[in-house]
Amino acid sequence: MPQIAFLECSRCHHHVSADTPQTLCPVCAGSLYVRYDMDALKRSARRDDIAAKVASSPASLGMWRYSSVLPDVTPVTLGEGWTPMLRSKRYPGLYIKEEGANPTGTFKARGLGLAVTMAKHYGLEHLAVPSAGNAAGALAAYAAAAGIAAHIFMPQDVPFANYVEGIVYGADVNMIDGLISDCARIVGERIKSQKDANTPANETWFDISTLKEPFRVEGKKTMGYELVEQLGWTYPDAVFYPTGGGVGLIGMWKAFEEMEALGWVSGKRPKMYALQASGCAPVARAFDEHKPASEFFQNAQTFAAGLRVPKPYGDYIILDILEQSGGKAIASPDDAILASILDFARHEGIFLSPEGAAATAAYDQLLASGELKPTDKVVLFNTGAGLKYTDMTAEAMHLKRPGTLPTSLPVGGIITPQ
Ligand SMILES: [Zn+2]
Repeated sequence: MPQIAFLECSRCHHHVSADTPQTLCPVCAGSLYVRYDMDALKRSARRDDIAAKVASSPASLGMWRYSSVLPDVTPVTLGEGWTPMLRSKRYPGLYIKEEGANPTGTFKARGLGLAVTMAKHYGLEHLAVPSAGNAAGALAAYAAAAGIAAHIFMPQDVPFANYVEGIVYGADVNMIDGLISDCARIVGERIKSQKDANTPANETWFDISTLKEPFRVEGKKTMGYELVEQLGWTYPDAVFYPTGGGVGLIGMWKAFEEMEALGWVSGKRPKMYALQASGCAPVARAFDEHKPASEFFQNAQTFAAGLRVPKPYGDYIILDILEQSGGKAIASPDDAILASILDFARHEGIFLSPEGAAATAAYDQLLASGELKPTDKVVLFNTGAGLKYTDMTAEAMHLKRPGTLPTSLPVGGIITPQ
């Protein structure tokens, strides 16, 4: 595993040392990327060594099969990554990357697996996160595995599973009457007041928010490595990615850059598509208006809870990647998202998360318009298991549990339709 050479600002390219925990660029508050000595990496990291390493070392399971391009630390792992790449039964070019197979049932396990690993490496004892739901659940699990305290802040109307998992994992669970942006403000205020009060370092919370520390992107980049390896070390034509905070999209683009530098893949990079819900579509709106950054999306509302991010911190990076790759951002209304959940469940046997279904709804739309062909090679991310959203999906379907289930059948009675 390689040493980190330095952290580099995504905006002004300022370098920061990785010897101590870092948050944002001290010059411009841009997000930081992890950088390695690529010449040394070219000699030490070979894609053909991966399979043998995985076979010989249990520590190389899941996303840690890519340990040759991840920081040199002892992993806090629950088996995240190396998720199935399912072929669609109807569209010959469509591959569904099933991130619901991760621990805690979502793609958040990758970023928080690595971020908590690094927090343990640095000796941090308290981690705090504002979350649309699933990041909170993943932090709670990995913090428990690492013996670190987790302070999670999420909207009070997140999927019930996110509340329950936080409690079950023993996190400090805070349900907020507001959106993730309100949660982020509260976490920031708490940390500032701790610093103002000269709270001892080991009791001060560390903010592990999306793109406000460098390692969640670094963990999520493994999705880019995986999809290329699972396609025989080739690129697809397009990647469809449900975009709330957009960490995975940013991480995958970083992975493509690294893999090209290492000679692991060549050819044209995929077009990147950021998929959102019409009720909260800051990136799609900025993309349509050709703006370099998004504006705060007022009155955000969608049952795709993970997409309720009114102003993603890395919006300027996401929009740049969409532009560079020739992709786009598309927003779908909740009724199209629900229809796509039912369509894929009934015709493919896949219970998508509402976020994943925002991607399939956009896929259908592009097929219908002829912009995409069923034979185009598309990797579409189902970012979480549909089962984490049973309450939200049932509500969207106006589905209620039958009020009175019989506890026993009447003996000798005749059962007739009611
Ligand atoms: Zn900077």
